[in-house]
Parts: sequence; C-alpha cells; structure tokens
Amino acid sequence: MGTQLFARGAEPGKCNDWLNVESPDMVMEIHRAYFDAGSDAVLANTFGANRYALARHGYADNASEINRAGAQVARTAAGEQRYVLGDIGPTGDFLEPLGTLRADQVREAFVEQVRALREGGVDGFIIETMTALDELSLALEAARAAGGGLPVFASLSFDKGGVGFRTMMGVDVPTAVSRMIALGADAIGFNCGTASLDEYVELSETYVAAVRSAKKKVLVFAEPNAGKPELVDGQAVYKVSPAEFAAACGRILKAGIHILGGCCGSGPEHIQAVAKALRA
Ligand SMILES: [Zn+2]
Repeated sequence: MGTQLFARGAEPGKCNDWLNVESPDMVMEIHRAYFDAGSDAVLANTFGANRYALARHGYADNASEINRAGAQVARTAAGEQRYVLGDIGPTGDFLEPLGTLRADQVREAFVEQVRALREGGVDGFIIETMTALDELSLALEAARAAGGGLPVFASLSFDKGGVGFRTMMGVDVPTAVSRMIALGADAIGFNCGTASLDEYVELSETYVAAVRSAKKKVLVFAEPNAGKPELVDGQAVYKVSPAEFAAACGRILKAGIHILGGCCGSGPEHIQAVAKALRA
C-alpha cells in the first residue's frame, strides 16, 4: 500500500492513513488494482491508524474516522466475494519500562482501532510489522476482545543476523510462534524486514518447523517484501521482478506456508505473477 500511494503522489512523511478520508478514490484504485491482479484479500489502508502513530501527524482524535473510512473503501473494492483485513501496525513507541507507553493505554488504543475497523465492515484483522512481543500481545488481546469473533492474523518482522532470524527487539521465531498461538491467533506469520528472497524462503522453513514442534493447529502466512531494498537517492527501491518474486513464492509455498501475500515493493504486477504461477 505504501509503495503504491507514493507512486500516486502521496508524500513520504505525511499521514498515509488520512488519505482514506481525504482521497478515498486513490486508495480504492490501489485495492482494485490488486483484486484485478488476482488477490483474494487486501489490507485496509490502516497500518498507521492507531492513535499513537496518528498523533505524530496530529490525527490522534480522528482514529475511529480514519479506520472506518479505510475499512469501507476496501470493502467497496472487495465486494462480497473477496476479503478485507483491517491492518493494525505498531504504535512506533516502546512500552514501559523501555519507553513511556502504558500497557492499558496501548491496549485501549488497539481496541479503538479494532472497533472502528469492524464498523467499517472488515472480514478480519492482521497485526503486522511488529517487533516487540509485549506490543504484539496487546494488539492480539484487543482484536480478540473487541473483534466480534472475526479471524485474527498476527505477524512480526524478522531480519537475519549472525544468530539467525530475530526481530529488531531480539525475538526469535520459536518464541514468537508459541506466544502468538497461546494468545489465540488464527493465522501466524511474518512480513516485511530486510531479507533477500532466499532468506524469506529459509524463514518460511523456520516458521513451519516451529509450528510443527509447537504441535498446535494454526495457519501460517508469509508476506515477503519484493527482495532486499536498495537505497537510491535516499529512497528504498525494490528491484525484484514479478517473475523472480513468483518463483520465490513458489518455494515459500513448498516450505508449507498456507497463505501468501506481498509486503513492500510488491506491486499488482508481482501479485499477478504469483497468482498466475501458483494457480496454474
Ligand atoms: Zn514491508
């Protein structure tokens, strides 16, 4: 979504989520492009629409309005045959004692977002790009408590360092998997990060192995970026072709993943290549 909004003239550093209210046609056009490409589901443009993330742009008190509008525009694009997940991203701050955010306030902010997404007509929720387990847990609790029984997907961002895959906050895959299962996520997975396509395949294998050893039934999803970003004139650019992306998604599927999507840099042309290759 971010990549597509910037390509249509949205300004980096401004509030992408406010566009649900200010330019719903632009957001609608992006959803439609992905459905036309073969997507079964899109994420509402609400990744940064919790009141803490919105406060950076002066929109904290518009959280409900922004989430409702984002859900509605995606619902309209999806119709009744395809799916909309309300997108729930991080606050961008740390919880106590590392930071200043209190757990009860953060949970309340996620509850506010979940309620408004439901009012806007989503089919479920996806908590993504999380790096801290405490924040992920609060978002999952909020979606469980206020989500009306709709499915909840939960995802963290991993990078591969010297000690294997970890989030920025040092969480490894088995720890993440067991926590997400314990908190009742319907589908668990990973998204974003700075991995290469080969590393996303390896991460998928690591996830599936962790789920197998947890011995619990849960769906596993993968939302890789279109490869590693390269910095060009200070902008992150994704150079992986649709064919390369689709080939990697085929390997990810073989690793045992149930649900596939694309994160940064994966345009409608990438999703179209995946749909063509994997539905053949
Ligand atoms: Zn991403």
